[in-house]
Amino acid sequence: MFISTFDLFSVGIGPSSSHTVGPMRAAAMFLASLEDEQLLDSVRRVKAEMFGSLGATGKGHGTPKAVLMGLEGEFPETIDVSAISNRVAVIKEEQKLSLNKKHSIDFDYEADLILNRKNSLPLHSNGMQFIAFDNQGNTLLEKRYYSVGGGFVHDDEAITAETPLVDTHKNDEFYDFASAKELLELCKTHRLSISELMLHNESVNTDVDIVKSQLISIWDVMAQSVKNGCNATGILPGGLNVPRRAPQLYQQLSGNPEKGLNDPLTVTDWVTLYALAVNEENAAGGRIVTAPTNGAAGIIPAVMHYYKNFVPHANNEGLSKFLLTAAAIGTLYKKNASISGAEVGCQGEVGSACSMAAGALCEVMGGTPEQVENAAEIGMEHNLGLTCDPIGGLVQVPCIERNAMASIKAISACRMALLGNGSHFVSLDKVIKTMRDTGRDMRDKYKETSRGGLAINVLEVPVNIVEC
Ligand code: SF4
Repeated sequence: MFISTFDLFSVGIGPSSSHTVGPMRAAAMFLASLEDEQLLDSVRRVKAEMFGSLGATGKGHGTPKAVLMGLEGEFPETIDVSAISNRVAVIKEEQKLSLNKKHSIDFDYEADLILNRKNSLPLHSNGMQFIAFDNQGNTLLEKRYYSVGGGFVHDDEAITAETPLVDTHKNDEFYDFASAKELLELCKTHRLSISELMLHNESVNTDVDIVKSQLISIWDVMAQSVKNGCNATGILPGGLNVPRRAPQLYQQLSGNPEKGLNDPLTVTDWVTLYALAVNEENAAGGRIVTAPTNGAAGIIPAVMHYYKNFVPHANNEGLSKFLLTAAAIGTLYKKNASISGAEVGCQGEVGSACSMAAGALCEVMGGTPEQVENAAEIGMEHNLGLTCDPIGGLVQVPCIERNAMASIKAISACRMALLGNGSHFVSLDKVIKTMRDTGRDMRDKYKETSRGGLAINVLEVPVNIVEC
């Protein structure tokens, strides 16, 4: 199965790919089913229930507002983020919902949108159930969906199938790979770099110039999210009272450029800034690129900014190659382990993003495919076991700083790999398997439930979390 670069890097909204982007897409899928079966006009009531991690931490992750906006026919890629709060307030006040922007129904926020804090659906930790009723109270349509990480959503059929039922990318012209070993063999056989191989795959069905311009569009959104984060001020929403730090750091760094001449490590402060800026935007519900998840959305943009601003001869071609290489590595995690904090802990989110960024930077800095594989392996090896324990169920602490730390780690992993010749002791495939196994052994309280780790040890009294 070929996973596209544009599946792994999609434009979305904060704060969470699995808890915000996924539920919005699930609601849209439910609407599409109602439309397909010509039931929409008969609907008088819709009930949406969130289970598992979505129920436990959905309030802090903005799941309810995402579901409401999805039921109103919005998509993460295009929704006007500045209008969401107001629209949710109107829905609550008027107790009306406009399904797919064309069919108005009564909607009782308390009774029709349920967060099950303790119950889970059997097939996945991020389950959702949508039911539509007619005017007699009879069920018209009932569907279950699962937000499996990175904004990807499966229904009952897809999640029980060993491979997705429909592979829209399937074509013999693709260089298909299921492991790093296969990827390296393909590169060797066809004398391609990893980014060239991925560009070939993306261009099988789409003109290569369009693919390149789409890649730069993804970069543009990333760059804008850094700018937005550097310019926004104030306290992040949700009740933890976490201040935005990026604006002040930006002022400090840009106001004292001489420091960079005396202290070469100032570069790392800039990398920290880029990551903080994106993740603060994400925490505030702003527009970001899911890369490959929202919680870890700052790492790849931060390392790309490092490449663009500090690596000699950086250019747009390099930025495109960066995204393509990162996507090849992300594909390996998606196929063989998980990129979901609810499934394998933070090693699947921040760890995967660190590994993707390390390998991608290595490629654009001239690394061979073997060195890229080595960099990606180092990037994950030293994130193994990383738990997911967001305080208050908000993607703020430890998530924001963790992205900055992983960005620096990715750069270091790349440099370590470039110092060698690509041969190394632990293969990327083995470390991916280890991440998956470690995730399976990890207790559920460390998988995006906010029932363990920092989430229970920092605050003496739980904060009164408001929806963000
Ligand atoms: S701790 Fe990691 S996996 Fe958990 S919400 Fe934060 S970034 Fe995501």
